[in-house]
Order: sequence, then structure tokens, then C-alpha cells
Amino acid sequence: MAQDNHKRLVIPGPVEVRKEILEAQTAWMIGHRSTAFADLFARLESKLKQMFLTDSRVFIHGSSGTGLWEGASRNCIRDDRKALHLVGGAFSERWAEISQMNGKQIDVIEVEWGHAHTAEMVAEALKKNTYDAVCAVHNETSTGITNPIQAIGEVVRQYEDTLFLVDTVSGFLGAELRVDAWGIDLALTSSQKAFALPPGIAFASVSDRVLARAKQIPHRGYYFDFIEIDASLQKNNTPSTPPVSLMFAADRQLDDIMTEGLENRWQRHLQMRELTHQWCYSRGFGVFAQKGYESATVTTVDNRVKNIDVDAMAKFMGTKGFSMDKGYGKIKGKTFRLAHMGDMPLSVLEEVLSGLDEFVGQA
Ligand SMILES: *Cc1c(COP(=O)(O)O)cnc(C)c1O
Repeated sequence: MAQDNHKRLVIPGPVEVRKEILEAQTAWMIGHRSTAFADLFARLESKLKQMFLTDSRVFIHGSSGTGLWEGASRNCIRDDRKALHLVGGAFSERWAEISQMNGKQIDVIEVEWGHAHTAEMVAEALKKNTYDAVCAVHNETSTGITNPIQAIGEVVRQYEDTLFLVDTVSGFLGAELRVDAWGIDLALTSSQKAFALPPGIAFASVSDRVLARAKQIPHRGYYFDFIEIDASLQKNNTPSTPPVSLMFAADRQLDDIMTEGLENRWQRHLQMRELTHQWCYSRGFGVFAQKGYESATVTTVDNRVKNIDVDAMAKFMGTKGFSMDKGYGKIKGKTFRLAHMGDMPLSVLEEVLSGLDEFVGQA
């Protein structure tokens, strides 16, 4: 590859992408109205359904995850109704803002950063009000929290007209998620987090209920019109030009993930979480996330007691060939994040942690 001085990414997105996957993008271009493309699309669609654990359908879209946030809000929330957003970190906060920027009315259940939402909180809110959708983030990348999506889904499913929309951008293919079994209507993700692809492509499992709702909404916009996307999908195609090279990469990556096995992949991430937590606690750091809800794909290290200089840490780790995170938003510096997601083997995480040991030892 071009640069010899590449630093391996330990940041929570984009994550390190294996050379084979980068190289899959160099295949000759094909036209997206060709049969070769329809075959590629159909292959991807079938593998993605197995990964989302859904029998419905998976949208493949040329955008980052943010685009599908906007699409989900526009296609699922009627203008004269409301959505309930579960907010507890930078990403869940942004999705709530996006709903509002699209003219949607929302209520919010806000928890302190580092805390999870519980099924009880959602049950209480749904008793008081009627909502078109409950919008939750599976894995809040800023705080390192994983929300109890299965339990929340059980509550939401008791309400016929309420869709359950889940952002699993940094969870999908790293942390357990079962779309159909957990009653999820829409689960959206992008490529550059636990999927370990280059950025630029997004995916969403979409239920029949979502499409039925979208039909009731006159102004769904154009680029993220779910009805149009679904109509093309039925012909193994997309309404506008898709990122074909990224689809080649996804095709290869999904084969590799299926070889590893979905449940093995979830397990590997739990092992990396365990290793990271052990390191944090034995070196005088904390884990920012509430106990019992710690993310399998990213650990937000609580730096408030140990108080290392995160800029110096990142600089030192740079000399070891690693690109590090220094914390996100209002908890930057007080915390920093160790991403253990994607295709990272345990051996690389061990290398990262021993590099950090060297820094902590001399700091
Ligand atoms: C990164 C991230 C997003 C935004 O996704 P993009 O692909 O960057 O648009 C949304 N939600 C979560 C939880 C994320 O980690």
C-alpha cells in the first residue's frame, strides 16, 4: 500500500481495515444496471439478512450512517405524531436533533452520560403517551454503553402503532443483536465501525411495518425515500448510483465474517472487553460505563482519578504505530476510548495495552 508509516487505528471509527478488504475495492468497475451488479446485490442482501438475523429485507445505501438516521426519522414519524428518543450520549443526542431538524416532534428520555436506558423507563413513557416510534442507540460510542435493546423491544412490541428503531452503528457485527427475535423494526448501521469496512456505505434492516408507515407519510424526501429504495431492492438494485467498490469489499468481508461465525465474532469482542477492563482496573483507571451495560466494542476509560495527559499518551502511542482516541465531546480528556471492534485480533489489543503500560510507567 502507498504509505509505509500507516498507524493502526484504535479509534472507534473508522477502524482498521484489513488489506484484503481494501484490495477487494480495486476490482474492475461494473455498471449498476448490469446483471453482474444484480448478482452482487442479491449475494449481499442474502448475507446481510443472515447477519441482522432478519427475514425481512436489508437496505444497502450510499451514505454514512447519518443518512439513514435522517431516512428513519422521515419515513417512520408522521408529522402530527411524536417519536420518543432515548438520549444518553453524543450520538443518541444527535439523532434526536436530526428528527427535529426534519420537522418531527419528539419527547426525550434523557439519562446521564455513562448510564443506560432501561425497559422500565420506556414502559412508563409509553403508558403516558402514544408514539409513532421509539428511537434507541444500541451501542453509544461516546460513553461505551450498550443499551438493553432486547428488553426495551419487549416493551415497545406491546404497542401496535409504535415502531422500534435502533441505531447499531458501532454495535452491529460486534455485539449481539437479533433483529426479528428482539422485535426491532429498523436497525441501521454504517460500514466503518464493527463491520470493519472503509466508510461510505450504510445498511438497515427494514420491517414491513416500517414500509406501511412510510406509505402514510407524503413528504419522505427523495434520497432516503424508503418506498423507492424498496422498489429497487426488489429488482436487486438501488434508485441512484451505489458505491460499487465498497459493495465488492462488503461481499468479501461478509464471507470472512461468516467464516469466523457471527456468534464467535460476538464472543471475540466480549473477550477483548474483558481484557480491556482488566487492564483499566489493574492500572488505576475506571470504566466510565455503568456496571452491567459496558460495551463489547468500545471501552470508555475513566481517566478522572489517574488523570494521564491524553495528548501525550496519543503522541507516545503514535511512535508505537497506533492512532488513539482522546475522548469524545464533553467528556474528552476526562475519558479516552479504546476501540476493540471490527477484525482486531486479541494479539493486537495486547500490543496496544502493553504500549499504554509503557506510557503509564514512565508518565
Ligand atoms: C459513528 C456513529 C454514528 C454516525 O455514523 P456515520 O456513519 O459517521 O454517519 C451514529 N451512531 C453511532 C452510535 C455512531 O457510533
